[in-house]
Amino acid sequence: MSGIKVEDLNHPARFKPARKGKKPPKLLAVVHQSGCTGCEVCIAGCPVDSIELVPGPDPKNPGYQQMVEIDLARCIGCQNCSQDCPWETISMYNHDDAFVAWGNETLTSKLYVDLEEKPEETKSEETV
Ligand code: SF4
Ligand code: SF4
Repeated sequence: MSGIKVEDLNHPARFKPARKGKKPPKLLAVVHQSGCTGCEVCIAGCPVDSIELVPGPDPKNPGYQQMVEIDLARCIGCQNCSQDCPWETISMYNHDDAFVAWGNETLTSKLYVDLEEKPEETKSEETV
């Protein structure tokens, strides 16, 4: 993915509790989406519910070719998901490196959208 991304304020994840604490986590998890089968195993083990489904391309069958993505704004770096994924397709990165990795490894995002695609009120949000 390329370009400046901003949080999609309409995504249901934006209504979940924010990450506690002032310091960002040392590690963040990133899904290598090309290897994700959408099996959802990782979702159950996330203590802060920060793993979101990305529906497949067919709106009539969203479960087909679904993937997941991790909300970097809410991940606490616990490493559960990277240990639980049966396909070893989640990696932990140092906090700052994770944003670059997210850009390289994310094929489709529902949590973040292109800055230029959003109306003005969204443009002040944190960029990825
Ligand atoms: S590292 Fe922990 S908090 Fe972050 S997405 Fe994985 S399970 Fe959730
Ligand atoms: S456990 Fe791995 S393969 Fe399954 S949905 Fe999560 S990241 Fe994708």
